Amino acid sequence: MATDGSDPIPPHKTFDTILVLDFGSQYSHLITRRLRELNVYCEMLPCTQKLVELGWNPKGVILSGGPYSVYWDDAPHVDPAVFDLDVPILGICYGLQEIAWHFGKNVLAGEKREYGHAYLKVDRHGDGEAGGHVDKLFAGLEDDMEVWMSHGDKLSHLPDDFITVATTSNAPFAGMAHKTKKYYGIQFHPEVTHTPQGKVVLKNFAVDICQAQTNWTMDKFVDQEIERIRKLVGDKGQVIGAVSGGVDSTVAAKLMKEAIGDRFHAVLVDNGVLRLDEAKQVKETLTAGLGINLTVIDASDRFLGRLKGVTDDPEKKRKIIGNTFIEVFQETAKKIAEDARGSDKAGDIEWLLQGTLYPDVIESISFKGPSATIKTHHNVGGLPKDMNLKLIEPLRELFKDEVRELGKNLGIPEDLVWRHPFPGPGIAIRILGEVTPEQVRIAREADAIFIEEIKAAGLYRQISQAFAALLPVKAVGVMGDKRVHDQVIALRAVETTDFMTADWFPFDGAFLKKVSRRIVNEVNGVCRVVYDITSKPPGTIEME
Ligand code: GLN
Repeated sequence: MATDGSDPIPPHKTFDTILVLDFGSQYSHLITRRLRELNVYCEMLPCTQKLVELGWNPKGVILSGGPYSVYWDDAPHVDPAVFDLDVPILGICYGLQEIAWHFGKNVLAGEKREYGHAYLKVDRHGDGEAGGHVDKLFAGLEDDMEVWMSHGDKLSHLPDDFITVATTSNAPFAGMAHKTKKYYGIQFHPEVTHTPQGKVVLKNFAVDICQAQTNWTMDKFVDQEIERIRKLVGDKGQVIGAVSGGVDSTVAAKLMKEAIGDRFHAVLVDNGVLRLDEAKQVKETLTAGLGINLTVIDASDRFLGRLKGVTDDPEKKRKIIGNTFIEVFQETAKKIAEDARGSDKAGDIEWLLQGTLYPDVIESISFKGPSATIKTHHNVGGLPKDMNLKLIEPLRELFKDEVRELGKNLGIPEDLVWRHPFPGPGIAIRILGEVTPEQVRIAREADAIFIEEIKAAGLYRQISQAFAALLPVKAVGVMGDKRVHDQVIALRAVETTDFMTADWFPFDGAFLKKVSRRIVNEVNGVCRVVYDITSKPPGTIEME
């Protein structure tokens, strides 16, 4: 996918690429993940993709699973031109049924649905009848393997010219292969971890059968991406982008710096609700450490002024902060553009950097059903269109862990590479009730102690997100023999892999005791500390 249609060298033109056509399975993106883990570059597009419009040649195609039944009138079908591409094809679950349907209309509802574990028996054919390629999918694997199934439909019989390459007790055609062409279908899901050898099956397909090179490495990506950015922006083009100190925006900014030096302008807006000393630290890391051309705008007063008196509605806080951010960013961009205009080395600022990641892209193009319209991609940063800037999104092909690896390659400090996510509205949504400078101080100090202790205990990377929140209530305590009526800090720490569901982290008692003692002793205005033991759902990770 090109950023704006003018992308000169997208990865699928330089790396051997496997195309995944998505029929809407909840696991489709995992196919892409697994292949990239094997250093094979892979892209996912909706199953409705017309192949004439593709504009590049995949080394192989994978048809994903999906919730439909191929025999339904409105079931989605792959562009039949896929069978004229002359590249190997692997169908997974719905994908297998789709291949069978294409060749023989031979799929029906099974009497027995099959969800969960199953034992697969591999059927090998030797070099005989089919010249050996049919055995390649399960090469190097045991004859019996554990697989994970999730289907209700089944093949009534094999289509012409296919042979069985695997069976289960319930699925006599759990694996099939074409006798002369490199077409394969499997009923199980190799992309999920419940199929322990699934990665070998995918590797056999991508590397041995499709002959895709295993050269998708971050080193190569960096070189190529820098080259691409230079071509895109030209000799004089200038780019502006907001940074937050988070891993995505820092990696994107560093990549821009490597590509075009000071013609990239990073802007950090201090909204007054960043973490303790954060603006200072980000400034140090980005300028002294990474050499990025950074402008820091301290707009704390403007933000805090507008947040004053907002006590009831958390959405209102978010809106105020979002709108004020846009306002400040636009003013700054205008000023930077004016300053830059005088110099003959650079042209106008035409580009806006955004740290969009591949999951956002997948989400925006993923296939939701025969009648569902495909959403156009909207961006997370929420910057206004009337700025008239073209988007540049150097991370849009990457998953989060790839961004981290890239960050390490670019010399970004470990600390920053592994930083927990931090919401745009900052600690304003961790201060329940009114956000005042005094509340900001308390929440910041408590949070800094909590995070410091988590790091000292070596738990930071195990925990996905942790913070201290300030509750809008007061409680009674006794401090130094005096009765106090002070505030309550709630600690929250969760573990999650995808941030969709999360569980609270089981700290041991000694750890919580230490954090509680430190916060009550060191943070003026706090007399109690509680730990939030709500999972998501029903809770959210943040408090507001
Ligand atoms: N809907 C099809 C079935 O039930 C395919 C399921 C899938 O791809 N997971 O067999």
